[in-house]
Amino acid sequence: MEFSILSESFDKMESTRKRLELTQFLVELFEKTPHDVISKIVYLIQGKLRPDFEGIELGVSEKLVLRAAKKSLGTNEKDIIETLNKVGDLGTTISKVLERKTQTGLFDFAFDSGAHDEASFDAKSNTVERIYEILWDISQLEGAGKNVQDKKINFISSLWNKCKPTEVKFVTKLLLGTLRLGVAENTVMDALAIAFTGDKENRKKLQYAYNVSSDLGKVAETVATKGIEGIEKFEITLFNPIRPMLADRVKSEAEAIEKMGNEFAAEYKLDGERVQLHIEGDKVVLFSRSLENIESYYPDIMEKIPKNIQADNIILEAEAVAINENTGDFLPFQELMHRRRKYKIEKAITKYPITVNFFDVLYCNGRNCMELSYKERREKLEKHVKEDEFAKYIPMKIVKNECEIEDFMENSINAGSEGLMLKMLDKPYQAGSRGSHWLKLKREYRNELGDSLDLVVIGGYFGKGRRTGNYGTLLLATYDEDEDNFPSICKVGTGFTDESLDQLYQILNPKVSIKKNPRIISEMEADVWFEPELVIEVVASEITLSPIHKAALNMVRKNTGLALRFPKFTGKIRVDKAVEDASTNEEVITLYKGQKKIAHDKNLM
Ligand code: ATP
Repeated sequence: MEFSILSESFDKMESTRKRLELTQFLVELFEKTPHDVISKIVYLIQGKLRPDFEGIELGVSEKLVLRAAKKSLGTNEKDIIETLNKVGDLGTTISKVLERKTQTGLFDFAFDSGAHDEASFDAKSNTVERIYEILWDISQLEGAGKNVQDKKINFISSLWNKCKPTEVKFVTKLLLGTLRLGVAENTVMDALAIAFTGDKENRKKLQYAYNVSSDLGKVAETVATKGIEGIEKFEITLFNPIRPMLADRVKSEAEAIEKMGNEFAAEYKLDGERVQLHIEGDKVVLFSRSLENIESYYPDIMEKIPKNIQADNIILEAEAVAINENTGDFLPFQELMHRRRKYKIEKAITKYPITVNFFDVLYCNGRNCMELSYKERREKLEKHVKEDEFAKYIPMKIVKNECEIEDFMENSINAGSEGLMLKMLDKPYQAGSRGSHWLKLKREYRNELGDSLDLVVIGGYFGKGRRTGNYGTLLLATYDEDEDNFPSICKVGTGFTDESLDQLYQILNPKVSIKKNPRIISEMEADVWFEPELVIEVVASEITLSPIHKAALNMVRKNTGLALRFPKFTGKIRVDKAVEDASTNEEVITLYKGQKKIAHDKNLM
């Protein structure tokens, strides 16, 4: 398939944010796509090469692209930076430079690196397959040494070699991971349903397939080659992560009873890391809440858990929690951060021991268990997983009234957990959805604001005094789902310990960007801008209207955003959350309205 077809589609998609138009462009594209490339097209639309859980990274920085441009386009860096400052992104910049050179007749690639084996491709054509293959080859280069960097530069030259300027723009964006078409997964599924089944309503069936595979490319290939019947037969595949079921929040025991009826399960809401375990014999694969492979942080789980399993194969969910080895008490989530390291993990395992607390089973002995009720799944869990010092079932009690919930809540808080998860007894596991069959009741919901917020770190300010050499204050943002960007909501400078400041510096420093990422929406000044990649948790005393910050701009009042008053870092770096899982504008508006209602109710009392 000619790459020009894809790049023309990208061009059209970039020009709109309207979901219906985007869907239409996608349908047109899918209809032109041969079935054997549909999965690649779907990954590329999302700016990826494979589903996220495979962890394929290109590892191409802006600096490397600049070096490649210098070498293969024969341009100087100053020229590029000047254009970059005008147009805003490096993909467009390279294409402009190339366009100028082509127009003036000066363009001729400084060299054809010959880095890529072109034997299998037609000499003249630039196909999607060819571009994909070179991107794939880049992703397979390991290490950061000069040799590897040089090889990458040669591959980049190969990539640009047969491209027209508009194609260069998108190829460069793919290389840098900055292709942002604003196409949500739902929009892709709408378009797949229309293009391959003629009925948009079939989206729901595709959604199910996606929820159990987390692989949109595989879903696309199935519907393209086998139609809706293929999708209806779609099965859970061991070692492909299932998108997790999430919970709504309730503020009180009374509200829980109102929503759940008079008998349901209450479980401790442990403050650890959610882990999805796929096990068959000795083979174990671990996924995080955001479906990243996290095996390297938990060699102890990999080694010990297979002994506890009494099934041929199984998919389980558990909360890994740091514990005090002497007392057995649960320790807060931050303790697990010590395991997020590349080296000396063995030492961290001994120093920061954990227990694995199982709460669900999604698949067992080749059979899907998600359709079973909570009660049946819990029984299955207790049948197929053996408890010991390391592997536990999450503490659970069937509760019937406010008193029992409150009592169990006390036990849970005293044991060092965050509160309770409340689960309906007769309901199935709903992969990939946040619904009312699971509710969370946390102690902190009773505080001033009603909840903590998970915000994206977008900017930093250098510290003074004891904080010299670190970022003393951070600029934070919410996630705007409609625009797929990050509007600022507050600066936070309290709640940090010396240790957390050091830790944040280590994590944030590599994320400093040459230019403010266009997805950051803020008029604030910052000493440095970060690529929006990290989520941290804050609490605050209040949400106020703000003329400066851009979160929920125009959504509550015209020309006004929302800001947090007295924000404080809780100590939790949410490495388990993707930036798209951060608190959204809608969530902040709900909290804003909730606090106004409480104030109103208090005035009436
Ligand atoms: P939060 O920010 O409150 O941790 P979240 O957005 O990460 O929430 P929620 O669905 O709102 O996700 O809360 C569920 C999370 O709580 C799970 O992702 C899991 O990590 C954790 N958890 C702790 N105990 C349990 C339990 N018993 N059952 C399910 N999840 C639990």
